[in-house]
Amino acid sequence: MPVKRKSRGRAKGSKGSSTLVQCVNCGAMVPRDKAKRSTRRVSFVEPQLAKELRQKGTFLASWVDTKYYCISCAVHRGIVKVRAENERHSKGYKRRY
Ligand SMILES: [Zn+2]
Repeated sequence: MPVKRKSRGRAKGSKGSSTLVQCVNCGAMVPRDKAKRSTRRVSFVEPQLAKELRQKGTFLASWVDTKYYCISCAVHRGIVKVRAENERHSKGYKRRY
């Protein structure tokens, strides 16, 4: 069977099934290995103030905010891009965090 992508758009491999995650943008339920994950560090303190505090040796707690997007929302937000046919079979796609 001809396939559009080598991985069929997923990172599942030979595993039977994977858990579902919800897209934070549209609410669609997508398999975890198909969804695009975007992680960013979040802090309560404003960047300008944080810089000053860090210079004075303050420890600032921050945590990683993980968001899952379905493919259509990831394309819409520019997390992944539509690629040409010969480009699709390579693994590396550009991710923007
Ligand atoms: Zn979505």
